[in-house]
Amino acid sequence: MLYHSTQDRSICAGAAEAIARGIAPDGGLFVPESFPTLTQELLSELLGLSYRERAKRIIGMYLTDFSDREIADCVDAAYTVEKFGSEKIAPIAPLTYNGHGLHLLELWHGPTCAFKDMALQILPHFLTKSLYKVGGGRDAVILVATSGDTGKAALEGFRDVDHTQIIVFYPVDGVSPMQKHQMNTQQGDNVYVCAIRGNFDDAQTAVKRIFTDASTRAILDSHNMMFSSANSINWGRLLPQVVYYISAYCDMVNRGSVPFGEKINITVPTGNFGNILAGFYAYSMGLPVNRFICASNSNNVLTDFIRTGVYNRNRAFYTTVSPSMDILVSSNLERLLYHLSGGDDALTKGYMDALKRDGVYEVTPSIKEAIGSLFYGGFCDEAGTASTIHDLYDQQGYLCDTHTAVAVAVADRYIDQTGDDTPMLVASTASPYKFSKAVLASLSCDAVPDNEFDMVETLHALTGAEVPAPLISLRGKPVRFSDVTDRDDMQRVVLRALGIDG
Ligand SMILES: *Cc1c(COP(=O)(O)O)cnc(C)c1O
Repeated sequence: MLYHSTQDRSICAGAAEAIARGIAPDGGLFVPESFPTLTQELLSELLGLSYRERAKRIIGMYLTDFSDREIADCVDAAYTVEKFGSEKIAPIAPLTYNGHGLHLLELWHGPTCAFKDMALQILPHFLTKSLYKVGGGRDAVILVATSGDTGKAALEGFRDVDHTQIIVFYPVDGVSPMQKHQMNTQQGDNVYVCAIRGNFDDAQTAVKRIFTDASTRAILDSHNMMFSSANSINWGRLLPQVVYYISAYCDMVNRGSVPFGEKINITVPTGNFGNILAGFYAYSMGLPVNRFICASNSNNVLTDFIRTGVYNRNRAFYTTVSPSMDILVSSNLERLLYHLSGGDDALTKGYMDALKRDGVYEVTPSIKEAIGSLFYGGFCDEAGTASTIHDLYDQQGYLCDTHTAVAVAVADRYIDQTGDDTPMLVASTASPYKFSKAVLASLSCDAVPDNEFDMVETLHALTGAEVPAPLISLRGKPVRFSDVTDRDDMQRVVLRALGIDG
């Protein structure tokens, strides 16, 4: 299996190289040259397997330059009961909301309590094996721009991993207090965390620029280092996410929620378009999906795009209670455009150049139609997010986080508007305790304490929902990182953190 750049098909790499590099040398994103087929036979075989065994089969179809042994080692090290709380790894919670049946796929039982763990617990294992194959003995420098959850998940995944250094940038006012605390107290000898003055898009743009800057790459090279990425631009981030959609389908069949071979709908709370794209990849392999519902918060650039075919980032940016979706440039949309245009690299590059230059592009009628037939876009504002958390708790005693609430609200509206009663899977992406303040406010708690950990206790006392152990253990941990920088200084900060700033 080879991987091409979305912006230049003549650029080819094996899986190990695609993962080690993170981004294609021309600034495009690596995509698989074709999608392996999920046959009925294979799908029915997967029904009887555990999460880990399903993962090995699916990942093996894509990482053809890894041995079965290597893939098994990666999967077994990543998805343990110790790290994910149960053999299910990603359990399904069946709920009824406003009379509609929803299957919440809980992707947040990993060490940092957000769905990013599903990919970032395994990426370091992929990466160290890839470096061994194609890295020429160099160490990997992982640069991360985070809207909150990726940063912590990547830090936890890469801490003290040999031959890696990890540097995380987050928007100074763009993450929840718990997210900030999780990152600033990170242990490990190979980690560095820094806030930037700006929003997530600023951080992501600057990181991409540093990545592809020839002079910075040369400096790293002379110190026997190379950049890699733990953002969802890295193929090694997306692939593990394909697994849980297929696995969830199997679980839905096994529990009688959908007859084998029949279609499901999938709603995903979306920011950078990575999670939902992984679902599209599962569909492209043959997973029976009728429609993807792309749920946004008030930063509804994707809702407009799906409806109009015009992507326009020139608009107000809102800081919301679902900060991991406060994004106006959804990086992975580039991959979808490439696939839906039949692999038209020049067209894709044209869109990305226009986005960089003018902040706007319009896709061809045929791409617009392809998107419209498979995707539905909807958004939920701050009041709607709060009332959904409140109403879902009221109706089912089930506590969800702010991002999941956006998805539940949009799924609910989709069913109301269309009458489509296809069984609905909803990606639940974070523990409510990562966003205690907003969740408490939604439950009309009238005495919200100031301290983040007191809020966790209050929320627990109010609802009885279990508090994840990794969050409790943060209390009282010393802050290790408090630097704040301007985005124009990020490159210098990187070299200084690596000790190679001359
Ligand atoms: C990252 C994140 C999202 C958005 O996922 P994308 O892959 O960026 O679309 C949604 N919810 C939570 C909790 C997240 O951490």
